[in-house]
Amino acid sequence: MGRRVLITGGAGFIGSHTCLVLLEQGYELIVLDNFDNSSPEALHRVQELAGSKQLAVVKGDVRNPDDLDRAFQTVDQVDGVIHFAGLKAVGESVAEPLRYWDVNVNGSRVLAAAMERHDCRTIVFSSTSTAYGEPETFPLREDMATAPVHPYAQTKVAVEQLLTALCSSGPWRVATLRYFNPVGAHPSGRIGEDPLGIPNNLFPFITQVAAGRRERLNVFGQDYPTPDGTGIRDYLHVMDLADAHGVALEHLWEQEPPYPLTLNIGTGRGLSVLEVVKGFEASTGISIPYDVVERRAGDVPRLEACPQKAKEILGWSPRRGLAEMCRDGWTWQQANPMGYRGGT
Ligand code: NAD
Ligand code: UDP
Repeated sequence: MGRRVLITGGAGFIGSHTCLVLLEQGYELIVLDNFDNSSPEALHRVQELAGSKQLAVVKGDVRNPDDLDRAFQTVDQVDGVIHFAGLKAVGESVAEPLRYWDVNVNGSRVLAAAMERHDCRTIVFSSTSTAYGEPETFPLREDMATAPVHPYAQTKVAVEQLLTALCSSGPWRVATLRYFNPVGAHPSGRIGEDPLGIPNNLFPFITQVAAGRRERLNVFGQDYPTPDGTGIRDYLHVMDLADAHGVALEHLWEQEPPYPLTLNIGTGRGLSVLEVVKGFEASTGISIPYDVVERRAGDVPRLEACPQKAKEILGWSPRRGLAEMCRDGWTWQQANPMGYRGGT
């Protein structure tokens, strides 16, 4: 029998892709999600893609101990947790810091308490490259100081600190993955990123312009200290990110402490906004009209990972390039012009 893994937030963008990868590797999964920012349809499609593999779904809130108990009691023993559930919009976190601290930090605390109750102390946690703040030296290594500049990143760093304290307190095994910018979709086009309303992020905005759902892209600033003046980010294919969770769990089960293990998950190759636009045009043949507008508040010029530690420790390296990110993201957008809300 495969290991049993509880996935909080498993219906979301990264969670749904990770569920599929883990089901295909033979794990038995329990997803806990309140569907605040996702649709149960994502999990139906994961089931369909995975065939008859094991996936139980508990509708519930990560802040609610009873919901967590229900999820843990679905099986005899949960062997590990991947904790995706949380809020992720930077601007919203500035406007609603209490909500962000409640869901992201309090939610993680309540989850950790439930894990102790159910004798499971193995967890992979979704952290973020924004933990590094506004760095000036590149590429970013995990031993550089964190310096979060907005409530979203502050909540992620607070949870990192909580997990570090737990590792000092007992036999916890923690992997904190600092994701850079996951984009794209499963190549089937059945699951993908489904933002509500106007997308905040560059990639879904581009695919919606390509689909004619939005007229033009706004490029936020062309006066950054970068070669073409637009912001640089380290984009990686969501399927590569999903793969990283499987190998991180295996590592936690197999390797003795010390923990926590903190790893950047990125490619190490930053791309500017205009490079992404050109890459999308080259892989799809569709032109993306754009206007350069003011910088977006809170954006930093550049974030770029050093991915060496993940390669050395987990043997993980991204396998898919920008062309596949664009192709697969576009396949998903075309097949699901209104996301999951358009039905199957
Ligand atoms: P997402 O919003 O698509 O997925 C999050 C999931 O958590 C959703 O299904 C949502 O319904 C669920 N959720 C939210 N609050 C919950 C609660 N209180 N109880 C139970 N479920 C709840 O986001 P994503 O892009 O898949 O991100 C997953 C995680 O990775 C998040 O923690 C996010 O902060 C982190 N992360 C994402 C990115 C990114 O670019 N997407 C980058 C770095 C880190
Ligand atoms: N960006 C942009 N137009 C958009 C959305 C984003 O020019 O409509 C830029 C943004 O300023 C940043 C990059 O694209 O330089 C990535 O932004 P995204 O929101 O996707 O990711 P994050 O800010 O979380 O790194």
